[in-house]
Amino acid sequence: MAMHSEFGPRGRFHIQTYGCQMNEHDSEVLTGILEASGYARAPGPEEADIILLNTCAVRQTAEDRVLGELGRLKIHKYRDPGVILAIGGCMPVEEGAAERILARAPHVDLVFGTGDLHRLPELLERVRSGQSPLIDVGDRDTVRPEGLPRRRDPGVRAWVPIIYGCENFCSYCVVPYVRGIERSRRPVDILEEVRGLVDEGVLEITLLGQNVNAYGRDLEEDVRFPDLLEFLSAVAGLKWIRYTTSHPRDFDHGMVDTVADLEPVCNHFHLPVQSGSDRILRRMNRGYDRDHFLELATYIRERIPGASITTDVIVGFPGETEADFQDTLDLFRRVGFDGAYSFAYSPRPGTAAADYPDQVPRSVQKERLARLNELQYGIALDRNRSRVGDTPEVLLERPSASHPGVYRGRTATNHLVLVEGPPGLEGSFRTVEIFEAQTFQLRGRLLP
Ligand code: SAH
Ligand code: SF4
Repeated sequence: MAMHSEFGPRGRFHIQTYGCQMNEHDSEVLTGILEASGYARAPGPEEADIILLNTCAVRQTAEDRVLGELGRLKIHKYRDPGVILAIGGCMPVEEGAAERILARAPHVDLVFGTGDLHRLPELLERVRSGQSPLIDVGDRDTVRPEGLPRRRDPGVRAWVPIIYGCENFCSYCVVPYVRGIERSRRPVDILEEVRGLVDEGVLEITLLGQNVNAYGRDLEEDVRFPDLLEFLSAVAGLKWIRYTTSHPRDFDHGMVDTVADLEPVCNHFHLPVQSGSDRILRRMNRGYDRDHFLELATYIRERIPGASITTDVIVGFPGETEADFQDTLDLFRRVGFDGAYSFAYSPRPGTAAADYPDQVPRSVQKERLARLNELQYGIALDRNRSRVGDTPEVLLERPSASHPGVYRGRTATNHLVLVEGPPGLEGSFRTVEIFEAQTFQLRGRLLP
């Protein structure tokens, strides 16, 4: 094992990340922590002494991908039995999952959780001193210490968690079980982090939480999500503020007004509706009805013309009839989402809906998903076409891998725009004229 190589006294690690932006951010922290304790990053799993999978449990397909990958990674253990294979993130925290993982993949050395990432170096030491396999998923409710090191890929965008955990217990969702109770970070800590990021050249931040609208409820100080947006809007040099995810139940006119009034807060509303049927929304334990959602969307369109609205939706939830599904299609037509992430319902062990008797057959789920997507793709294309001729500001990210000389960029409304331009523009804001619309992207040309 190459533990005492030129790559650092403790060896090299490789992290593979699955799932949401919170996991991406956690991997940045894991990388920071490992680097701070003397490990170095490997270019890929082949060169690594430690291979870590940071996993997602939100749908069965995500778990299947991880289990498949664990099978493929076995080859590295054959190559060098000293290689440590570690699995962390949301999957191991599910009830009984750590044991299930080891039964499927006995070559795994370490199973850890979402709570106390900062203990990873200590856990790795224990594995190295012979305690393998080691299962220690820690405490999902732990308050994460401030000031943990993190390694961000260089760039002008950064993620900033503001609240960990979720207590909504939507009946289909595993997140409250694997991410624990709601813990808000103190506003001073968030502000300090954001100022530091801006000093490093960051122009855009995305505030992360399972339900950012719950921010502050668990803090002693009287501060809520709109207050936080206001504090952060005053940070000099910070250009754009995004946030994800909002809960439609907790999103009101005041929240829309806050977004409208604060210049740096982007005019993009990601509001996961999940279903257009009141009966299904109740069974999902979402706490709002379709009228609330429709009214909210109408208010957004009136108050901020040009804002974008995107959503998440689940089809084939237990008990969903064709009439319920028609309600979802109808809501999609009425709102006219700019984009939507659509999922077939996937039963998660331990959640309420997994035990509902009236599960919808897979074939029906697939067929409904296809119909919804077909409708939504048409709507997205129409909405994108209405933006042709607009001249938004675009944050140019990086030249596209497949088309050299073409930048990928984002508008404040979170539209992906492809723009031709000379080298050296990455990380800059440019005014762009939209000249072509496609379903998932716009094309624009640089204005002088
Ligand atoms: N906290 C966020 C995201 C949760 S997971 C929120 O509340 O919106 C991201 C999306 O995955 C959800 O919005 C939902 O649409 C989908 N999802 C969650 N559990 C699911 C399940 N069991 N089956 C299918 N989709 C699911
Ligand atoms: Fe899951 Fe609902 Fe919490 Fe979102 S709000 S993470 S869907 S329980």
